[in-house]
Amino acid sequence: MKQSIITGASRGIGLAIAEELASKGSDVVLVSRSGCDAQAAAIAQKFGVRAKGFACDVADSLQVQESFKAAIDFLGGVDVLVNNAGITRDGLLLRMKDEDFDQVLAADLRSVFLCTRAVSRTMVSNRKGSIINITSINALRGQPGQANYAAAKAGIIGLTKSNAAEFASRGIRVNAVAPGFIDTEMTAALGVEVCEKYRAQIPLGKVGKPENVAKLVQFLASDDSDYITGQVIGVDGGLNI
Ligand code: NDP
Repeated sequence: MKQSIITGASRGIGLAIAEELASKGSDVVLVSRSGCDAQAAAIAQKFGVRAKGFACDVADSLQVQESFKAAIDFLGGVDVLVNNAGITRDGLLLRMKDEDFDQVLAADLRSVFLCTRAVSRTMVSNRKGSIINITSINALRGQPGQANYAAAKAGIIGLTKSNAAEFASRGIRVNAVAPGFIDTEMTAALGVEVCEKYRAQIPLGKVGKPENVAKLVQFLASDDSDYITGQVIGVDGGLNI
């Protein structure tokens, strides 16, 4: 029986991950700024696991410390953390405001540090854990208009590899998943024209679904991947070939 915490779980990829982990019998805590009470209740009812939502800004150190302590108490431990929460504030560098850069770095990168630290004591003392960080294809190849986002997501890769090396001897694995173009509110906000432009470039010929990412995360969370750590694995329909 697993005990999993998923950030950014109110919708999109994070919610699909929470559902996938619960479908395999994991108790789950769902975290987002707006809270995830309804989503947690639906998961508990559908999959017969324990589930609870927490309202927490994962860029805020104090909120993370308090919420994660309560989350670990609720679960009775934690052996899976999925750092999925993220935002975009796109714009050309010439016009990018300081706060657009700082907010994205805080929500997308600092959060991974804060949440990982918040579970590490429990995982280290249990000598067991799997941490999965959601980065992006744009960390690997850059993207005009997304200097802040690509920098934060590239930082996640550095954190992933450093933490994987640091925690390996304690039985904790750390991996990153790099989605390509996935159909969620984040990408819908780009508009139909941009979505179609992306779709046309994807070798497999279709936009990804949140479930495509969730299935890889479930594998990395499970003992089936117990010899895999420090890796960055794409889910992108071939977009990064
Ligand atoms: P959505 O915008 O649909 O969902 C983002 C989630 O993160 C929401 O649950 C949101 O909830 C939560 N969130 C945002 N900021 C915070 C915060 N400071 N504290 C806590 N929760 C927060 O995004 P997606 O599902 O599309 O993306 C999920 C992850 O996958 C992100 O990290 C994204 O960068 C990454 N990704 C997505 C791709 C795509 O094509 N969709 C491609 C590559 C990577 P709330 O607003 O309530 O806080």
